Amino acid sequence: MNYPFLNKHKIIFVGDSGVGKTSILNTYSKKNKIPKATLGTEFTEKYITQHNLTIQIWDCAGQERFRALTKLYYRGAKVCILVFDLTNTTSLDSIENYWIPIVKKETTESCKFILVGNKFDLTANIDYSIIWNLCKTHNIKFIETSATKNLYINNIFENVCHLINSKPTDDLEKNENETHNKQLQESKVSLITPITLPEQFYNIYTQC
Ligand code: GDP
Ligand code: MG
Repeated sequence: MNYPFLNKHKIIFVGDSGVGKTSILNTYSKKNKIPKATLGTEFTEKYITQHNLTIQIWDCAGQERFRALTKLYYRGAKVCILVFDLTNTTSLDSIENYWIPIVKKETTESCKFILVGNKFDLTANIDYSIIWNLCKTHNIKFIETSATKNLYINNIFENVCHLINSKPTDDLEKNENETHNKQLQESKVSLITPITLPEQFYNIYTQC
């Protein structure tokens, strides 16, 4: 017998104010029927039948504007979703210089990262080589999304489940099947993004 309440995992959203964290969560919630957070709590919970696990999603309630998230916010997080705005270079710089260091400081090594470039519907204004380097250095998956157009939002949460279910020693390369590995090595791409991977391959690759 399965006990989903024992299989509960904390997920945190971080990133500069205005990048779209709350919008991403709202878009996902509407489509996937997550009840609104009860007054006084900072998170919403969703049981994902397919993976038999519950994710507890924490969103900043504006404190990130002052970089004043409490230790409690980070504590026990299994997956950290780092969000920046594709039209705002500063928000990407903050990921590298502020958000990754603080999350690493406040969580254990088992906390995994997903990098999300939001506002994909607008014209990007960032240097993609910064993203590739960041992802390589920290072994992070990258997903581009649009919260307002509901593009690739579900991908974030599919990848969250995938990361939770992967063994601690698994990394992106080890985790995928051999064909994908070969293709990835040939193309020297180990990141998930609609831009670097053809859509057909991208869809297969991101399935949990
Ligand atoms: P947060 O501070 O990170 O939680 O950001 P919000 O979710 O409050 O969003 C900040 C602003 O960006 C709002 O005006 C949103 O409507 C807008 N926004 C969020 N996501 C997108 C997106 O994907 N595309 C565009 N064009 N605007 C977005
Ligand atoms: Mg917000």
